Amino acid sequence: MRTIAVMNQKGGVGKTTSSVNLAAGLAAAGKKVLLIDLDPQGHGSLHLGVEAVGEIPTIYDVFTGQKPLSVVRHLVAENLWVAPSNVDLAAAELELVDAPNREVVLRDALRKLAETEAFGYVIMDCPPSLGVLTINALTAASEVFIPLQPHFFALQGLSKLLSTTALVRSRLNRSLRVTGIMLCLYETGTRLAADVCDDLNDFLSRSDSDMPWADARIFESRIRRNIKLAEAPSYGQSIFEYAAKCPGAEDYGNLVSEVLAMEQPALVTPESPLRRAA
Ligand code: ADP
Ligand code: MG
Repeated sequence: MRTIAVMNQKGGVGKTTSSVNLAAGLAAAGKKVLLIDLDPQGHGSLHLGVEAVGEIPTIYDVFTGQKPLSVVRHLVAENLWVAPSNVDLAAAELELVDAPNREVVLRDALRKLAETEAFGYVIMDCPPSLGVLTINALTAASEVFIPLQPHFFALQGLSKLLSTTALVRSRLNRSLRVTGIMLCLYETGTRLAADVCDDLNDFLSRSDSDMPWADARIFESRIRRNIKLAEAPSYGQSIFEYAAKCPGAEDYGNLVSEVLAMEQPALVTPESPLRRAA
């Protein structure tokens, strides 16, 4: 099971759009996927057609220990489940402050779910903060994907974000790795976007090998700005249902292929012991 936290404390960078369309694309590729909506705004849930009102169980019930994930998750398409949220979740940030083990609630809930059900992918759509909900996602995750909008201020805030992953790795989750950076709302052909990529590559290549982001890649698939991606949520549909032939579907389709390709074990390189022994 790959558990991926889609994280950036900035709002409006493409976390939800990427989480939803990645989840939908992986499900369409035959993987069993659970999207966990960790934003009290509930945009990810709405994007997949779930409005968590009335008696519908939400991820808040998991954080308060009232319900297991197996009850909270909701089937929305073949292979695709969502654990929805609504504004109740905002209270969890406060209510958990004094709770023992508050950082591991989600991890434990996922372990419990895994005892009875095998998901190929769990995608966690984080809120725009570095609070206890995001810490829960990082504690439960094996991987972090960071959506970035490549503009002048894109790298601002990145060091705070990355040091949070380092902190969680040292205290709570030894296996946490930042594996991918997604460039979203990409303006093709602008000098600025290319500059931001260069700066990022430069930064990554200079980082310490024991940092969680040492092996992070910038995904080749750039997610271009495309109005269909902004329209799809109001129809409660992923981009593949809403407009399967638009540039947005093409870009997220490519991203899904890249994410699937990461499952392959590393190729034998000239330096590897296997090759040398041969
Ligand atoms: P976040 O979850 O980081 O706050 P969202 O995914 O909600 O960001 O995106 C912010 C806004 O931008 C939303 O209205 C969304 O529909 C829109 N949006 C996201 N990605 C794109 C894109 N590639 N092209 C056009 N609009 C986009
Ligand atoms: Mg969001």
